[in-house]
Amino acid sequence: MPIRQLSETMINQIAAGEVIERPASVVKELVENALDAGASRVEIVTAGGGLSLIRVTDDGSGIPERELALAVARHCTSKLSDDIHDIRSLGFRGEALPSIGSVARLSIRSRTAAGDSAAEISIEGGRVSAVKPAAANRGTTVEVRDLFFATPARLKFMKGERAESSATGDVVKRIAIAFPVVRFTLAGSDRSTLELPATGDTPEGRLARIAQVMGADFPDNAIAIDAMRDGVHLAGHVSIPSYTRANALQQYAYVNGRPVRDKLIAGAIRGAFADVLPRDRHAVTVLFLSLDPATVDVNVHPAKADVRFRDPGLVRGLIVGAIREAMAGAGIRAATTGAAGMMAAFRPGAASYSHPGPASGHRSYEAAFRASGSSFDHGSTLARSPQRPLDMGEARPARGGFAENDQAAFDTGPLASADARAGIAEPAEALLGTVLGAARAQVHENYIVAQTRDSLIIVDQHAAHERLVYEALKNALHSRAVPSQMLLLPEIVDLAEEDAERLAMHSETLAKFGLGLERFGPGAVAVRETPSMLGETNVQQLVRDLADEIADNDTVETLKERLDRIAATMACHGSVRSGRLLKAEEMNALLRQMEATPGSGTCNHGRPTYIELKLADIERLFGRR
Ligand code: ADP
Ligand code: MG
Repeated sequence: MPIRQLSETMINQIAAGEVIERPASVVKELVENALDAGASRVEIVTAGGGLSLIRVTDDGSGIPERELALAVARHCTSKLSDDIHDIRSLGFRGEALPSIGSVARLSIRSRTAAGDSAAEISIEGGRVSAVKPAAANRGTTVEVRDLFFATPARLKFMKGERAESSATGDVVKRIAIAFPVVRFTLAGSDRSTLELPATGDTPEGRLARIAQVMGADFPDNAIAIDAMRDGVHLAGHVSIPSYTRANALQQYAYVNGRPVRDKLIAGAIRGAFADVLPRDRHAVTVLFLSLDPATVDVNVHPAKADVRFRDPGLVRGLIVGAIREAMAGAGIRAATTGAAGMMAAFRPGAASYSHPGPASGHRSYEAAFRASGSSFDHGSTLARSPQRPLDMGEARPARGGFAENDQAAFDTGPLASADARAGIAEPAEALLGTVLGAARAQVHENYIVAQTRDSLIIVDQHAAHERLVYEALKNALHSRAVPSQMLLLPEIVDLAEEDAERLAMHSETLAKFGLGLERFGPGAVAVRETPSMLGETNVQQLVRDLADEIADNDTVETLKERLDRIAATMACHGSVRSGRLLKAEEMNALLRQMEATPGSGTCNHGRPTYIELKLADIERLFGRR
């Protein structure tokens, strides 16, 4: 076949292959256009998962009648001056509308503030109509019907209506977080309506928008981030380590206000949380990076979700450092979800005091106790003597050294009894003001019950101790050179020449972590020493992973993370198992140590080490409020 120039429609369909992957991509492009036009309201309607209809209406600047034909022509944009390095709008490629028009039926109705009337243009499978007068308010309505009717092959790849609807929902939420001054609505026969009223461009407003999108409990379980390094600013919120998700979908990142999905940012978040989260859990994050547009390239892919930083090491370092610092600064905090779950577990039974008998409320109270690990039957005793809910009489098993005090303790009233059981005197006033309070008792041989001025704290002693040992090991690990072991024979690792070169360049840093390597002719390194902590390790794999990591991020995080994981395993073996009885001083010492140790709010596996119940909530449980 001779070489020939492709038709305009073919060219647009090829572009559409990249820009318009699915209905959600259409919504993304149209919403971006509305925001670039300065809209304060964006309304989105879909039907059939967006395949039969997508309609986006905005109250932005509108398109002048004489420019309508240009708007749907390829490579026509009002957003780019002469400098490709100075992009301040979401769009800039002049590609979205002609691409959509080449694979669907597209119509645009628009009216500017200056225009006395609206005008409309449509384009079907690449065929452009004449511009016609129309009736509309100021702003623009773009309607897309029968997406991919002109490219049936692409249509076949669509997932179900529901999957496409939910992808569209994600796109809208993602972009909405960056524009809290704009009101978004997403509705249609194929979905439940999403309404995001404008919240304002203040710190509170931005957080309120985040809460609309991520759920109202996120702000209570998040730490604010605000850091600056070499002209790059990072702001936003990250979840505390005990508030996690099973996937990384709730990690939102923005570069100069543009939503991006970036490997480097995702990797930095993983790195920052590496030693507080189990490997299969993910933090919830909203991060905004602001930097000189000239130092970041957004023109990497037509979908504009990828970016390239001029200085990736700087960006990664900033993210990891800022998150870790913020977590350390926030001290320890338990997720409110833990206490909320506990409250929910207890609540249903509250009514059973006044209504003894096998009512359903009664049963669930009992169930709650069973769920909380209690081994004896509260239910019937509670029902028999509602005035003395603490009198468990013969049902209570003897435990520890407190058994002989039991009867006397209950006879002298509930307050004294608690103290006698724990063998702990009235708590020092100063301790009540601390975060984790004064230890009052140890129960079930693993749970420390402590009290602050306004709350009850329950600490999982094993989990807490494990975490403290881990932090101490890590500290030791990173404060001096890591011990290494000589290999009997140096191991030669063959690599791409660039990889060998990169590793050699970092050999000094690697040596600090106990990995001794040097160049070994072209395209190879010789490894002479490995970190002792790693034990028998797959040197080839380790070196290759490191080379990849350095290529990607220009850092040697991998080795550090591996060593941290080893420390975690060691900590697990070295810590107090549950079942050890602790004296009051030991318990209080543990609590103080937890307070002083960043990250001790979760164990090495990401579970909370303690739960805090506010007195107010406890009083509510008992119907006192
Ligand atoms: P780009 O956004 O990259 O410029 P598009 O194909 O998405 O390319 O849009 C082409 C042009 O049409 C835009 O540059 C803009 O001038 C105009 N336009 C598109 N949508 C709107 C809208 N909702 N409001 C005002 N102008 C719009
Ligand atoms: Mg656009």
